[in-house]
Amino acid sequence: MPTVPPPVNEPNLAYLPGSKERTDLKARLKAMACERIDIPLVIGGREIRTGRTRQTVMPHTHCHVLADWHVAGPEHVHQAIAAANDASREWANWRWEDRAAVFLRAAELLTTTWRTTLNAATMLGQSKTAIQAEIDSASELIDFWRFNPHYAEELYREQPTSSHGTWNQIDYRPLEGFVYAVTPFNFTAIGGNLPTAPALMGNTVIWKPASSAMLSACYILRLLEAAGLPAGVINFVPGDAVQITNVLLESPDLAGIHFTGSTGVFNSMWRTVGENTGRYRSYPRVVGETGGKDFIVAHRSADVQELAVAIARGGFEYQGQKCSAASRVYVPQSLWPEVRDRVAAMMRDMKMGDVADFRTYLGAVIDSRSFDKISDYLADANKNAKVIQGGTARGDEGYFIEPTLVETKDPAYRLMCEEIFGPVVTAYAYPDAEWPAILKTIDQTSPYALTGSVFASDRAAIREATGTLRNAAGNFYINDKPTGAIVGQQPFGGGRASGTNDKAGSKMNLLRWVSARTIKETFSPPRDFTYPYMTEE
Ligand code: NAD
Repeated sequence: MPTVPPPVNEPNLAYLPGSKERTDLKARLKAMACERIDIPLVIGGREIRTGRTRQTVMPHTHCHVLADWHVAGPEHVHQAIAAANDASREWANWRWEDRAAVFLRAAELLTTTWRTTLNAATMLGQSKTAIQAEIDSASELIDFWRFNPHYAEELYREQPTSSHGTWNQIDYRPLEGFVYAVTPFNFTAIGGNLPTAPALMGNTVIWKPASSAMLSACYILRLLEAAGLPAGVINFVPGDAVQITNVLLESPDLAGIHFTGSTGVFNSMWRTVGENTGRYRSYPRVVGETGGKDFIVAHRSADVQELAVAIARGGFEYQGQKCSAASRVYVPQSLWPEVRDRVAAMMRDMKMGDVADFRTYLGAVIDSRSFDKISDYLADANKNAKVIQGGTARGDEGYFIEPTLVETKDPAYRLMCEEIFGPVVTAYAYPDAEWPAILKTIDQTSPYALTGSVFASDRAAIREATGTLRNAAGNFYINDKPTGAIVGQQPFGGGRASGTNDKAGSKMNLLRWVSARTIKETFSPPRDFTYPYMTEE
């Protein structure tokens, strides 16, 4: 069996002053900011312009239009189902190594000629800084496309044993029907991974990108086409989420859902699939990575500076719009004044603004809906808790929310429980002696279980936190911030209301996109229907 090139994690470029990558990225940002592109649907390799369009704007300058994208109607969704079915006949029967080669080539193109374009699209359209774009739309997506072929190979290699005279094999078939990929705005890499992971395993896909990440989504599709992805394997269907989803979830050909986004949306899709169960040819594979309310807990033996940096980076990078962002923090009272002051000082040094200015630490939040929702949380904090730093919102030019640190005396306060998805960290200072109790509180405070960190020097405390919080996070960190998982190193996903925990970018995820067929071959079948023991004594 062929072996794919051993995957290695793509190093992040540093974008230091004077570097070539910095000059190139700045030039690309300038050029792309002057463009206003037209984004069609792509179904069966055919571009479709419906004439009904919506705009993609820069979140940090929301009057600046970057693109107009065409909105699909129900008829286009039906066309996409037909195109996916058509393409499946060939794609499902390609040798797996030919499919893998498409994505390995996509990784190579992204490493080289496409890197600045996808980074610039992510910066302009999703308001990421250069380094946040680099770790997402370059390194993470390259890693997904390098590591998944390697995991697929491992999977295909797993075969049963055979006793003498027989040969047992597992045929890792793609699912019968199409996979529906629904992607969130906050990671370009997830936009690229959700449609391609099932495609790698031989499935054809209908991809509905997030309306607020349409620019990067469009370039991902173009890049895949440049890498040789055949027409109809991934069908690009932007439009009204509810309308598109309703049509697809009624189709007997729905074979799987690959979703990342909020818990409420995933719950509604799960419900619909449940109601429609009798319609489907097979039981659809439903995979969803959803919300989080990620914690940092410090023991009194924690290093104050390391803890403060983890809160600042984990809480505020990309405006707190990572599913893994630290948003509830538990610090012993003995350390709190020092931690609070250090975090607040760092926050005062965080420049917020246009991401094309490389001194910027925070861009804008994604859209007006998000801006309004976070503003409501700030109003609540100003009324019912103590705002230590930040606390204001300014939406006239861009959707800017100041990085905000809130202190509460109530560990069950709303801001300690609900996902805010913005640059707001709420802290509770607990009595030092209540360490075991605070761990239980953390475990029971929110319905989510995505990421969490413990900071401590005392090994016994680390052991205790790791034990009590075993089910409170799918990705658990010791003396590290709860963000920044790397493909191949920390497979990512959470349990409880944070999703099905199928760990994107791992073999566990790929397993969901195949339906195994067991084949037993007998080389010398019996020729007599009786058994030897039946002979007369
Ligand atoms: P969202 O739920 O608003 O949207 C996600 C996708 O679902 C988008 O494509 C959207 O158009 C679509 N959608 C919206 N309403 C729908 C409906 N009624 N039916 C079907 N599809 C619908 O999420 P978002 O704002 O794009 O992303 C933020 C959320 O994603 C947060 O909750 C975050 O925690 C979560 N997230 C989780 C992970 C993870 O790995 N667990 C990673 C990234 C983001």
